[in-house]
Amino acid sequence: MSDLTDLYQEVILEHKRHPRNFRPMLGANRNVDGHNPLCGDHIHLHVKLNGDVIEDVSFEGAGCAISTASASMMTEAVKGKRRAEAQALFQRVHGLLTGEDEGVDPSALGRLAIFSGVRNFPSRVKCASLSWHTLNAALREDGEDVVTTE
Ligand code: ZN
Repeated sequence: MSDLTDLYQEVILEHKRHPRNFRPMLGANRNVDGHNPLCGDHIHLHVKLNGDVIEDVSFEGAGCAISTASASMMTEAVKGKRRAEAQALFQRVHGLLTGEDEGVDPSALGRLAIFSGVRNFPSRVKCASLSWHTLNAALREDGEDVVTTE
């Protein structure tokens, strides 16, 4: 478990220093804000949907290392995917983070599996899930902003 913890910290810090797809986007057709008041994380997510495919995805905003790293890795994971694939990935990541879905196989999530460590810190689960909830909202037709309050 300590290897995973080391990897977790290493990956989180690396993405915090060099977040992927951290930029504004011209021509995005979905722009959704996500806010985690427990920590103060704030994300502006931009998605360019081309038909059913996530052609491009980027984010802006400010937050803690976990929320920034999660958003960075989320954009890498879903870019180029079909909407249904990204929504299925959201469900798996959500299950991994909350522990609600014991059937999630972490090895199927690749590097995203490092976030399983967040489960041991309940106050940080919303930091890690914020970008995913925001993506999920962006992929719905209504595209309403997200506040992770429950
Ligand atoms: Zn946070």
